[in-house]
Amino acid sequence: MTQILVIEDEERIASFIAKGLKGAGYACLIATTAREGFDAAIVADPDMIILDLGLPDEDGMALLARLRDSGVSVPVIILSARRSLDDTVAGLQGGADDYMGKPFGFDELLARVRLRLRPDNVAEATVIDHGDLVLDLRSRRMRVEGKEVDLSSREFALAETLMRHPRQVLTREQLLSQVWGYDFDPGSNVVDVYVRYLRGKIGAERIETVRGSGYRLMP
Ligand code: CA
Repeated sequence: MTQILVIEDEERIASFIAKGLKGAGYACLIATTAREGFDAAIVADPDMIILDLGLPDEDGMALLARLRDSGVSVPVIILSARRSLDDTVAGLQGGADDYMGKPFGFDELLARVRLRLRPDNVAEATVIDHGDLVLDLRSRRMRVEGKEVDLSSREFALAETLMRHPRQVLTREQLLSQVWGYDFDPGSNVVDVYVRYLRGKIGAERIETVRGSGYRLMP
């Protein structure tokens, strides 16, 4: 079984990630300090590491350098509240394979985990289509009836989640956790607001409201 080490000191984030990864079929190990993380990376020999930068005992970038110096060569995805372009570049130059800003939605993290775990020689589906809706996951662009539409990153993530579960009713809670992650409370109406934005861009009739349940992408 593929094992992923999550080095993250914030408990609710660590358990959010662990729960999602387990649900996706991965084994998950959590370390809450750099010291624990280093030991687990050496001893447990995980297949991938998800690394927070703001750790209590050592900066994640310094830990990453130590891991790479010690011969740990598995893919590392940095998760950090530092989300500027400079931070991202520094992370990638420091030996990470990918860099995600917080807050993040679980679907996006999972897509990146899968991408990084996949051997280079296996072709990967980078396009999801549903009727005349086409989502290009690499370029982060969407086409509707052949025409490109401009989506914000949240709108894109919402479209991606709906398109990964076509014809299935997704509850507000599911959408909230997939697209917004741990960062919003369940009472938030942000899902309804973004469904409205997305409808405005791709056509209102494409997303059905299922009263009392949630939303569904129409065939
Ligand atoms: Ca932290």
